[in-house]
Amino acid sequence: MSDARGVPGIAAETVSAAIRVYADRVHDFARRLGCTPDAAVQVVESSALDLLDAAGEDPGAVRDVAGWFFARAWVLCRRAAGGDLYLPLGGGVLSADDDQTRLAQALEALLETDRVPVLLRDSYVLPAESVAVALGTDADTAIEAVGRSRLAFLQATGEQGPILAGHPVDLAGLARLGEGGQLAARDATTRRHAQSCALCRDVLDAQERAHRMLTGLTVVALPDAERDRLLARTDVQARTALPSAAALVHRQREDGYDDEPRSLLTPVYVVLALILAVLIGVVAGVLLSRHSGRSTSPVGSQPVSPAAVTAGFQGSASTVDPVAPHPVRGTSYAVSA
Ligand SMILES: [Zn+2]
Repeated sequence: MSDARGVPGIAAETVSAAIRVYADRVHDFARRLGCTPDAAVQVVESSALDLLDAAGEDPGAVRDVAGWFFARAWVLCRRAAGGDLYLPLGGGVLSADDDQTRLAQALEALLETDRVPVLLRDSYVLPAESVAVALGTDADTAIEAVGRSRLAFLQATGEQGPILAGHPVDLAGLARLGEGGQLAARDATTRRHAQSCALCRDVLDAQERAHRMLTGLTVVALPDAERDRLLARTDVQARTALPSAAALVHRQREDGYDDEPRSLLTPVYVVLALILAVLIGVVAGVLLSRHSGRSTSPVGSQPVSPAAVTAGFQGSASTVDPVAPHPVRGTSYAVSA
């Protein structure tokens, strides 16, 4: 089955599932980028429908469905909210409860260019590849932007962040390390360095703190009625505009994308390998039995001079040695005897 990589198409089910999974987060995104409640609902719906159109028209351009969804929502938010880098909200108005007020206020205090990376990566838990697509860059640059935005976020909460004064810092590596989880091989050096460098350890601590705080953000969900209406509409649209997963599998087989030809050949290879193994066994068995029955066989095929035969009879082992029966050596040995 094909997927977001776009070869040769994106299934209706794939896009429908992504819209279902991310609709609330895209709504929260729109609200935190300054959209009014009505405008935010509109942004979710329009970006979802645009995503379906794009996936149908040029699947290759939608290399990451979630990333594309957020990227489109960001564009539409800017239009709806007037393209202001500063939120028109204020006072932590989007905080779900008192615990969230400080978090929401700090997010509001950030420039949009710092707010977006931490929302996508930490609060919405998008994969690095999706964050990269949403930011219009590659995964390494995206995670570095996340690392920088986390430091800005901590400052916005009133914490004194680490001062980087001149010291070279692997911000992307520290940003990845700050998320915990499995250590990537390429970050091992950075982690070792951070264990002995106070400044880099400070940056790593800051990454961990900011990441932890931001993952605790309560997302402002779509109103239930709006979500039901939106999902019903996009499901219908997905089935109209996109092939089903089953149709894609069928098409891939026809186009030769599938493994089927190989899987048909596999039993043939297995049988051939078995026959070959049996033949090798038989030949090896015959050779071994001949070897043990007639000890002269390795030399038997060699041109044997009468002198060499004489030497053999004189008790030398040279005639049975596969290396020995050199005509010159055999002859000289015979002469000397
Ligand atoms: Zn350092």
